[in-house]
Amino acid sequence: MNAKDYIELEGTYGAHNYHPLPVVISKAKGVWVWDVEGKKYMDMLSSYSAINQGHLHPKIVKAAVDQMGRVSLTSRAFSNDRMGPFLKMLCELAGLEMALPMNTGAEAVETSIKLARRWGHMKKGIPEDKGEIIVCENNFHGRTTTIISFSSDPDSKKGFGPFTPGFVTIPYNDIKAFEKAINKETIGILVEPIQGEAGINVPSPGYLKELRRICDQKGILLIIDEIQTGFARTGKMFAFQHEGIKPDILCVGKALGGGLYPVSAAVSTRELMSVFKPGSHGSTFGGNPLACAIAEASLKVLVEEKLDAKSKEMGDYFVKRIEDLKIEKIKCIRHKGLLIGVEFKLGPGETVRPICEKLMENGVLAKDTHEKTIRFAPPLVITKAEVDWAIERIKGVFEAV
Ligand SMILES: *Cc1c(COP(=O)(O)O)cnc(C)c1O
Repeated sequence: MNAKDYIELEGTYGAHNYHPLPVVISKAKGVWVWDVEGKKYMDMLSSYSAINQGHLHPKIVKAAVDQMGRVSLTSRAFSNDRMGPFLKMLCELAGLEMALPMNTGAEAVETSIKLARRWGHMKKGIPEDKGEIIVCENNFHGRTTTIISFSSDPDSKKGFGPFTPGFVTIPYNDIKAFEKAINKETIGILVEPIQGEAGINVPSPGYLKELRRICDQKGILLIIDEIQTGFARTGKMFAFQHEGIKPDILCVGKALGGGLYPVSAAVSTRELMSVFKPGSHGSTFGGNPLACAIAEASLKVLVEEKLDAKSKEMGDYFVKRIEDLKIEKIKCIRHKGLLIGVEFKLGPGETVRPICEKLMENGVLAKDTHEKTIRFAPPLVITKAEVDWAIERIKGVFEAV
């Protein structure tokens, strides 16, 4: 079978809920992937930042293989010897106290919403049928029925109602709107430190700090979704650390599994987590020993290889190299660390999809995020020589736009 055959087969038996670039990957290592014909590409998407440690990092693969020779799944009906050490490391890196392990990012967000709501009802005295969580326009927090209920993207939402109530939407990066939206039924705010899916939307410096201050003043919760921005992607272990604050609840996922396995968690304080009692929430696979072994190894790689500092250094270098190309059609570049959005000046209805297709033909895999922006988010293990390799190819494609 060739690439065309695989694409056809996938399109025949797989639901069309994505519009992938026409490349069929069959092998990967570090920042590189190979297609079925053996052509090499640089992965500049990292599965939406789920592969910060690089494809098949040997230490993470070893942890997985070792654990598969011991025990993979116990369920939470019993304890296992991998969950405690992993959660301790996760809590310490986040500067928080307790975590609830799940599998996908959406589940971490759902867990955080349940945690916040229960706290609102049990500790804050908000009536059971009331309570509001404030969210931001153009948010992306996942795909469950409740989460899409507060999406502002019609593609994610249309036809999936009726929706879950209890959410109030305000503009992103707007402190005044936040203050105005708070009332006696407000439980807290759920926010991304940088809106990844909205086009690498970086808020003004001090935004999170202001949110923290107001939440403290009003006695409501700051819930930060770092599923995409976490684990060194933006140059710090977590993006909230750029502003020297801490959330009350942190949602993590994606790179927590090192690109090998879905691992996510809601991380919080002991006081908040105490609202969960046996039976109130759970997951068959959440906290399984294989996931925990992989996640702990994934965290260790981030720390040992100082991928936070590397992300900052390579991110700044990459952006400087693109700026130096002086491409007339680039409108602006938004970035923090290796989470980079390059926005183009295009006509109405035009998108960057054809540019991404050209990049692909030239060996660089990057994807549009929002119509006019290309996201560059390579694995954080990328070297300077590898950035240079990519820039050579990006240059030709961008100059032809
Ligand atoms: C990817 C993502 C999610 C959802 O994670 P899944 O593993 O796809 O469920 C939630 N929030 C943000 C910010 C994300 O980038």
